[in-house]
Amino acid sequence: AAVVGVLALQGSYNEHMAALRRIGAKGVEVRKPEQLLAVDSLIIPGGESTTMAKLANYDNLFPALREFVGTGKPVWGTCAGLIFLANKAVGQKTGGQELVGGLDCTVHRNFFGSQLQSFETELSVPMLAEKEGGSNTCRGVFIRAPAILEVGQDVEVLADCPVPAGRPSITITSGEGVEDQVYSKDRVIVAVRQGNILATAFHPELTSDSRWHQLFLDMDKESQAKALAALSLSASS
Ligand code: GLN
Repeated sequence: AAVVGVLALQGSYNEHMAALRRIGAKGVEVRKPEQLLAVDSLIIPGGESTTMAKLANYDNLFPALREFVGTGKPVWGTCAGLIFLANKAVGQKTGGQELVGGLDCTVHRNFFGSQLQSFETELSVPMLAEKEGGSNTCRGVFIRAPAILEVGQDVEVLADCPVPAGRPSITITSGEGVEDQVYSKDRVIVAVRQGNILATAFHPELTSDSRWHQLFLDMDKESQAKALAALSLSASS
């Protein structure tokens, strides 16, 4: 069976491990670069992306994480994990922290505001309707949550949500000589998929709903089937 790695530097990795156990999947905590060689897929949990990046740097994990994303094995980032996977992050407290990248999007690190503005809401996610239970909505738990401001053309949007009422307009400072922009749309993207990469601005691991973990395991199965097919092709040629 597939081994799902969970980056266990900081944040909600215990909750991801528990969610995997609930659906009978094998989760393994990953803290060192070489441990990435032993997993078929990887979850990067929520937490605090600046702290997580510091710890990742300390253990020299960034090159290995980038290489892992590049192999095409499934990777899922929740919240701070989404920030890690984005090609570009903007917003306060950016502090030039290092990103893994691979996901063609721009995230705002604290789009929904501070801890006090954390919230839960019902999200419409058509893709989840195929999973057990058949409902196409899920509970989105947003904690100091980021949001996705822009996506590239290869990125499939799985869910968006309204910008909370009364939220002050957000100025996006891109540096690099580009003018500041104000985010003025009334909805914002909170879940996406791009090939092997899944990313959510909210925390399915903090709910009892296993469908997101199930969806991720399905991506894992798909990718293993592909790897096997490639192997048998090369063996027969
Ligand atoms: N906004 C946080 C950050 O910058 C992420 C919050 C979370 O993962 N719950 O890392």
